[in-house]
Amino acid sequence: MSLKGKTAIITGSNSGIGLGIAQELARAGADVVINSFTDRDEDHKLAEDLGKEHGVTARYIKADMSKGDECRALIEQAGACDILVNNAGIQHVAPIDEFPVEKWDAIIAINMTSAFHTMAAALPMMRKAGWGRVVNIASAHGLTASPYKSAYIAAKHGVVGMTKTVALETAEEPITANAICPGYVLTPLVEAQIPDTMKEYDMSREDVIKNVMLQRQPSKEFATVEQIGGTTVFLCSDAAAQITGTTISVDGGWTAL
Ligand code: NAD
Repeated sequence: MSLKGKTAIITGSNSGIGLGIAQELARAGADVVINSFTDRDEDHKLAEDLGKEHGVTARYIKADMSKGDECRALIEQAGACDILVNNAGIQHVAPIDEFPVEKWDAIIAINMTSAFHTMAAALPMMRKAGWGRVVNIASAHGLTASPYKSAYIAAKHGVVGMTKTVALETAEEPITANAICPGYVLTPLVEAQIPDTMKEYDMSREDVIKNVMLQRQPSKEFATVEQIGGTTVFLCSDAAAQITGTTISVDGGWTAL
């Protein structure tokens, strides 16, 4: 599978799943745009190293996905967008009656509304190029719920709904839109949830991992960033040209329960 000549923009990709996706797309030959809201030397170095490793053009573009104008500017600045991966995301865990309003607003903006802005800016470019792939990173929490994650679950269900809508709006064009729904993947985002969950359930770290996080993941194994990246590459392949408006779970059986 070669994605040579295609430009992929991956939001929120200087760590975790986004970086794993950028790696796999670059391995498949795509030029990649890495993004986050910071503008550190190490962000640009990350892109430089990735480009060298895979012999592709890799750039880092700073844009804050909580701001609509910056989401759109990211796509414009990249100049091309054949593959759009909406991956930026944050989490906050609290009961709904104690959920901080600013956390709710930030999660809805970064995890959901950013995808509206980037898709709106990218679709005209895909139409002009005559080919496009939208891959939205939702979650098993885009299909099911858990307590204390109201904003995240609302946002991820929203992403799944928006993906279906865009798929219908592009159904007669050579463009597809799908969502990947990962179960637990051990990344900085998940690592950061462990202390709060330990407090919430009064459990040790080991028990939180086994009995809370992986309790609903029948495989009892975390999914890997390489697996999410590989699924993204598959969705960009010719074999997936008729796959649109759907979700692919990479969750060790979570949603089969
Ligand atoms: P992570 O914290 O490692 O990565 C999140 C990325 O988003 C980082 O690159 C961060 O810099 C970026 N980001 C955060 N706020 C941003 C902003 N305002 N503007 C631009 N970028 C911003 O987390 P991750 O686990 O790799 O999560 C990536 C995506 O995968 C998220 O959408 C998350 O909801 C989803 N997901 C993760 C898991 C999991 O178990 N890790 C499971 C299902 C879905």
